[in-house]
Amino acid sequence: MVQEDKYLYGPVPSRRLGRSLGVDIVPSKVCTLDCIYCQLGKTTYTTIERKDFVPVGEVLAELKEKLARGLDADFITISGSGEPTLNSRLGELIDGIKKITDIPVAVVTNGTLLYRQDVRADCARADVVLPSLDAGDEQTFQRINRPHPGLSVEKLVNGLCAFRDEFSGQLWLEVFLIEGFNTDTAQIDRIEDAINRIRPDKIQLNTAVRPAAEPEVKTFAPASMQAIAKQFGDKCKVVPCYSPPSCASLNESTTEDVLADQAARRRAETLLSMLKRRPCSLSDICSALGIRRDEALKYINHFQQQGVIGFEQREGTVFFKAN
Ligand code: SF4
Repeated sequence: MVQEDKYLYGPVPSRRLGRSLGVDIVPSKVCTLDCIYCQLGKTTYTTIERKDFVPVGEVLAELKEKLARGLDADFITISGSGEPTLNSRLGELIDGIKKITDIPVAVVTNGTLLYRQDVRADCARADVVLPSLDAGDEQTFQRINRPHPGLSVEKLVNGLCAFRDEFSGQLWLEVFLIEGFNTDTAQIDRIEDAINRIRPDKIQLNTAVRPAAEPEVKTFAPASMQAIAKQFGDKCKVVPCYSPPSCASLNESTTEDVLADQAARRRAETLLSMLKRRPCSLSDICSALGIRRDEALKYINHFQQQGVIGFEQREGTVFFKAN
């Protein structure tokens, strides 16, 4: 029987953070926003109230075990199935992680709660904080991010500015570009004005490369992304994409003795844990597990035959996901 981690997943290949061990500290799917591009699907509970969602001691015990087995990761990344700053014990968790490992800690957040002093203090314990800004005005913020009624784009930008003033670590701002929503000249100029106020260390331009909550979300053209990156200046880069596998490759594998040994069972466990959190391409899986395509396809075929996972195609890329 495959044993799964409860709070950790990966290491997974992150397009922004290299090999990243995910720490999931908010239940699926609790968030302050309901973004149309969310790869986790629609938000089921939109809130701005912080809560003690998971037992920090159990998360740290799981991490200790993972470290003892040998963990090769560039970052321990607090993110997961919703907005991690909603967890009221975030600061305590980061302090606990730092006591047991030197691997840098990153927090991937939508940034909407940084107007709160306690959230800024918690996030400031991390090495890298990666917030988002997808809109230059309120109408676009409402259209793309569908926030809790207690939030506004002005509150978001002010919170990010206050955090920048207090935080001495790295602040990497993500801008998610969606054709027809936030890519016209006026909108890009407004986002640029906000970026100039926030003063992040890096700006990372992203677009939809995984299945999104809403079907109208389309991948933005690479050449147009590069033009916007040029406008935003030297600190701005386009987040690189992983190359897609072909559907035909699914037929290459066999399912014989797939989980025959302990190491294979562990890799299969990690794969299933990853796919329960988000859809992944074959390249994602190979990079995360450090295995060849044929081995990854054996696990995929095994789980497909059990009916545990399925797949969907988006813009020519196949993404596997838990059923
Ligand atoms: S993309 Fe992030 S911020 Fe937006 S709804 Fe999904 S989890 Fe929340």
